[in-house]
Amino acid sequence: MRRRNPTLTVDYVTGEGKEADRHDKMLLPVTRNPRSSHDMPPRSAYVHVPFCRHRCGYCNFTLVAGRDDLIPAFLDALEAELAALGGPHLVDTLFIGGGTPTHLSLSHLERLLRSVAARFPLAAGHEFSVEANPADITAEKVDLLWSFGATRISLGAQSFDAAKLRLLERDHDAAQIERAVELCRSGIDQVSLDLIFAVPHESLDAWRRDLRSAIELAPDHVSTYGLTFEKGTAFWQRRLRDELTAVAEETERAMYAAAIDELTTAGFEHYEVSNFARPGRRCRHNEVYWAGGEYFAVGPGAARHVDGRRETNHRSVQTYLKRMATGQSPVAESERLDPRAKARELLVFALRRNAGIERAEFARRTGFELDELVGGPLGRFVEQGLLEDDGQRIRLTRDGLFVSDALWPDLLVD
Ligand code: SF4
Repeated sequence: MRRRNPTLTVDYVTGEGKEADRHDKMLLPVTRNPRSSHDMPPRSAYVHVPFCRHRCGYCNFTLVAGRDDLIPAFLDALEAELAALGGPHLVDTLFIGGGTPTHLSLSHLERLLRSVAARFPLAAGHEFSVEANPADITAEKVDLLWSFGATRISLGAQSFDAAKLRLLERDHDAAQIERAVELCRSGIDQVSLDLIFAVPHESLDAWRRDLRSAIELAPDHVSTYGLTFEKGTAFWQRRLRDELTAVAEETERAMYAAAIDELTTAGFEHYEVSNFARPGRRCRHNEVYWAGGEYFAVGPGAARHVDGRRETNHRSVQTYLKRMATGQSPVAESERLDPRAKARELLVFALRRNAGIERAEFARRTGFELDELVGGPLGRFVEQGLLEDDGQRIRLTRDGLFVSDALWPDLLVD
């Protein structure tokens, strides 16, 4: 699946009624009396599982493909990293992403879930998301995930079109997506679908068909991403050799507009640049990122925000495994942002959300007045019709949504 950058990428689930009832029956009980090692430790955690059967041509995520022989060493390493965290740390949101977590065999997946559950017990009303590939989710894996408290499965559907899936080098077809959604529904409360648009040769009509096929499956949540050609990927090389051509910019914009129109007409709330949710079904974990909140993260390439410090683990899976096996730290980068940089970062995260941010809230949370910090670029973007400012709240306009990534650098740099 196409994994979002954890630092940029969350749903409000009530956890009431059915959900709470079901998790009272989990193998590992939901902890109801939090005890933690810090005064205010993060209440969210991300776990990165870096394995896939095959590396899709467009993917530059931290993973190894076809190296299942490394899975036992990875589980040892992850357990060592988890043990170093102290705790246990009660969490409201837990996200296991990858890679493809469901690529693990049933027994490896169970070992992973046990280790994570021991360190990150789930609070009542929690959200627990797991990324899955339509080709490898099985009834046994859904049951196992449910028994450990999973409430949400994010399926890397990407498309329902056979030729587009082939080009993306995905190993599933439309029928498998439908079967996977059905399987997930048999045990898990929420299902999210990831979709990719602007794939070479894709027409606007073909993209509309994908959107409608997704809507017909009635998911709780949809994430849509325009294909990017990332340096280091097979697609990057193929584009250099003129084997692949990016779709025209106007077509990509029209596709994004179609996603907004089709999904909102179908009752989804467009709550973040790339994310759409049925009422009450946003991804709460990602909302922690966008709110500038703190979270634990473990696994190769995992990025965490704990105690005011941002850290990223080594991205190379082999390096991560080697370091953990020899008792070294997995951390590759570590920084404590100064208050101005932190305030700017919070602004950018907040502006990705449809609700934007209120001046008063920004000042309360950061200690800076928005206009004093970034008045110049803000005024310019409002004048250009890319941001809307009613004097209290600032948010992206529809035009701004289409070019949002181009606005952030001016807001992040002094
Ligand atoms: S399934 Fe493909 S796109 Fe998803 S993480 Fe694995 S290699 Fe990347």
